[in-house]
Amino acid sequence: MDSPKAQQKGEIPKLFVARDAEARVREGLRLLQKRHVRKLKGAPNAGDIAWVVDENGKFIAQCFCNPSAEPIAQVISLKEKEAIDAAFFSRKVIAADSFRRAVLGFSGSYRLFYGEADGIPGLVVDRFCGICSMQVSCPGVERFKDAIAAALLGIDGIVTVVERNDSRSRERLGLPLKKGVLAGKSKTQAVIEEGAVKFEVDVLRGHKTGFYLDQSENRVAAAKYCRAGSEMLDVFSYTGGFGLHAAAAGANVLMLDMKDAIAQARRNVKLNGLESRVSFLEGKAFEETKKMLSRPKRFDVVSVDPPAFAQRPADLKRAARAYHQINYNCMKLLKDDGILITSSCSSYVSPEGFLKILSDAANHAGKEVSVIEQRSASRDHPVPAHSGSAGSYLKCVFLRVRSK
Ligand code: SAH
Repeated sequence: MDSPKAQQKGEIPKLFVARDAEARVREGLRLLQKRHVRKLKGAPNAGDIAWVVDENGKFIAQCFCNPSAEPIAQVISLKEKEAIDAAFFSRKVIAADSFRRAVLGFSGSYRLFYGEADGIPGLVVDRFCGICSMQVSCPGVERFKDAIAAALLGIDGIVTVVERNDSRSRERLGLPLKKGVLAGKSKTQAVIEEGAVKFEVDVLRGHKTGFYLDQSENRVAAAKYCRAGSEMLDVFSYTGGFGLHAAAAGANVLMLDMKDAIAQARRNVKLNGLESRVSFLEGKAFEETKKMLSRPKRFDVVSVDPPAFAQRPADLKRAARAYHQINYNCMKLLKDDGILITSSCSSYVSPEGFLKILSDAANHAGKEVSVIEQRSASRDHPVPAHSGSAGSYLKCVFLRVRSK
């Protein structure tokens, strides 16, 4: 390996990859694992720029290297001469924002930047009105945090950039855990509008970036199945997500979640003036839905949107049982021709695998189910096509449920 001195003289570290990995980078692969790399020439520090090269040392891409972690490299540009500097990040951020607004028609609150699909793996930015919430999972991108924040503050209406770099997964990458205001005004709460409803978003205290924007269009779509007098159950309701849309469409809603989430959901119900249509149940979803089975009340619409049961491939079996169980309970809680809106955000559960779990649960529950809508994350969460179904971690399936 070359000495660090060699780098100072301007020699760029090189990652030699085999032919199949070369082809995959050309197709769109942006995260390189150690198994893709045959040889590393040079001694890059975490976050340094390196070149991905073919077996003969010919340039394929520029990447950020993280030599002792997985992924070992994140491809950042396919152009040999492109300068990876503040202006590069600014161009990418502005392009991602313009696409959301001018082409997709988003405004106000949306995922403004989504990693690979927007050209910078390891960077996620959600916008909640004037506040941007940033998550970084790449040491190379970490070095440009301030430049990214400056670019965001240049976008019309954005006054604050918060970092939510408190995900434990950063430790594996050798990055510190941090959260707080990174640039701009010290403002961390916003009231956002989503379809017909409003949510109070606490960017520092909310989950992940502060709020689950990935389910946004699915929550709006759920309202189509609710009308005055419908009975709706929202299991894992968090800050009121699906249930608020149902209530705004006229349904009587029961929100079920743990204590802290319910406190926030209550505030959002009040914010929308929907107190008369919403009631709350604090408790554990598996136990409470099981208890409800022995009572007569049945629902027209049930939403079930649990946390990721499979965090690692090793969790898959246990996760499949949990998805089966909660969906079994929820199917049984529906009236005939009721609608089950069921989600899974585990990236290790494929869309096909999820449908299989649902079909098994239906069989077990004595129900016949058919798919009405098969949805994924909202359009502001684009997924590179080359990653196939593995890229769409969020599954949200709308089912018609009938007794057999
Ligand atoms: N549907 C929501 C997001 C749900 S996030 C939305 O659209 O915003 C998952 C929720 O599951 C969290 O609010 C968490 O508090 C809740 N949760 C996790 N485990 C739970 C359990 N065993 N019982 C009840 N709620 C649980």
